[in-house]
Amino acid sequence: MPNPTGTEVPDIEGIVLEPDSAGYDAARSVWNAMIDRRPAMIAQCRSSRDVAKALVFARQNDYPVSIRGGGHNVAGHAVCDGGVMIDLRRMRGVSVDADARIARVAGGATWGDVDAASQAHGLATPGGLISDTGVAGLTLSGGMGWLRSRHGLCIDNMIGVEIVTSDGEIRRANEQENADLFWAVRGGGGNFGVITEFEFRLHPLGPEVMFCAPIYALECGAGPIRAWRDFLADKSDRISSIVEFSTVAESEDFPPEFWGKQVYTIAAVYAGDAGEGERIMQPLRELAPLVTDFSGRLPYCELQKLFDELMPAGHYRCYWKSLYLAGLTDEVIDHILEGVTTVPSPNSLSSIWNFGGATAEPAAEATAFGDRSMPWMYSIDSVWEGADNDEANIGWTRDFWQRLQKYSHEGRMYLNFPGGGEEGEKQLEDTYGADNFRRLREIKAKYDPDNRFRFNQNIRPAQVGGQ
Ligand SMILES: Cc1cc2nc3c(=O)[nH]c(=O)nc-3n(C[C@H](O)[C@H](O)[C@H](O)COP(=O)(O)OP(=O)(O)OC[C@H]3O[C@@H](n4cnc5c(N)ncnc54)[C@H](O)[C@@H]3O)c2cc1C
Repeated sequence: MPNPTGTEVPDIEGIVLEPDSAGYDAARSVWNAMIDRRPAMIAQCRSSRDVAKALVFARQNDYPVSIRGGGHNVAGHAVCDGGVMIDLRRMRGVSVDADARIARVAGGATWGDVDAASQAHGLATPGGLISDTGVAGLTLSGGMGWLRSRHGLCIDNMIGVEIVTSDGEIRRANEQENADLFWAVRGGGGNFGVITEFEFRLHPLGPEVMFCAPIYALECGAGPIRAWRDFLADKSDRISSIVEFSTVAESEDFPPEFWGKQVYTIAAVYAGDAGEGERIMQPLRELAPLVTDFSGRLPYCELQKLFDELMPAGHYRCYWKSLYLAGLTDEVIDHILEGVTTVPSPNSLSSIWNFGGATAEPAAEATAFGDRSMPWMYSIDSVWEGADNDEANIGWTRDFWQRLQKYSHEGRMYLNFPGGGEEGEKQLEDTYGADNFRRLREIKAKYDPDNRFRFNQNIRPAQVGGQ
């Protein structure tokens, strides 16, 4: 292919961009506006063969490799300085076998692509909460969305992948073929190769679902949150829910007397008949005087786009961090309610997520993700404008997260909301569990011995005979 600089580039069907190519800057930008990295080369691949060629090129020239799916990784792992960035945005096809209830999803697809193709057949698979998040990055570290209580994490619905490993081999991985690799990619992130195709199990759903979204003023205090917690105790097999803390924007969607005030939304989705969901979730809408109530029945594809506007790509600077909670006692709720009052940015969100149901079913060793007994998660999604505000917002998030550690579920966090990964390998070992982490390092040594894929929650290859 033509090469503006005259240096050797991989001969791919897609496009190769170098720092002086038109389109280079747009291609290296990602969702978090803070990320400003400059790859030596961007390979915009069109096929698995393209990916294989780019990886062979990287190995021959000793470049590290980053992988860009949807570009939503808040730590910006999709882009690297000085390496090869494999950009999968041109690989977004989704095909659905409605009889077999399977979706085949290309490695650069977004959840919006998957939902549209699946819902055309009245089917769905668990995804995330925002339609333009990449399927790949979200899935490979677990994947949590509105269907998790009924159908589990995204990895629990993944039945196979096509993956290109660092040696340029195109392989299939499922329960029968390369089963070690299949185990590792169900939680192990982008450490093991470039996934060029996912196969997901689909479930009948919709088209209409019930979304519950009453909004209460923060000054209502802990009462509605305690009631929400107790309400979910026997319903965690059907209802996926979050309590989301936010600051009201100056918008005609809200009564003016609440503009600029802090609130929380009790957001919940019933994975089943919309009418039944409306009846069952009604008590969540009557827990205190309302600021407003966005509840209603709506098509599943619309639900999946509902929060997109809040999270525009490339606009905000962001730092997100999470921890699993051992329990949601009154003390924990009070601590969170007190903590959010000092949030520096009105654009920031934070959420308590429920688990249980199908999420809790797989054994810790069944997938790389690890133990499923965490009952709750708290994620602090700090979002702000202006580089001058970086220190205040990152510092506040880290400080709040540290103070909550005493309530943590065995020091574990959701690796898709890891902040900058500052805690390093110890955090990974705690999160995966020692046995899973050891196994991940051995599988890494087999498929990526040179740690070519290191822009991620990095799992270093095990060394022969020990560390
Ligand atoms: C607005 C927003 C909403 C979010 N909502 C949710 C949510 O509801 N639920 C949830 O669980 N998470 C959510 N997340 C977190 C999200 O799962 C992670 O940020 C994830 O990394 C995004 O995946 P991506 O493909 O878009 O990211 P990218 O930045 O493109 O990729 C992230 C990393 O994933 C790996 N990767 C990407 N593509 C491939 C591939 N094809 N093969 C191998 N590795 C690959 C690479 O290691 C890469 O560095 C959200 C994030 C944002 C910004």
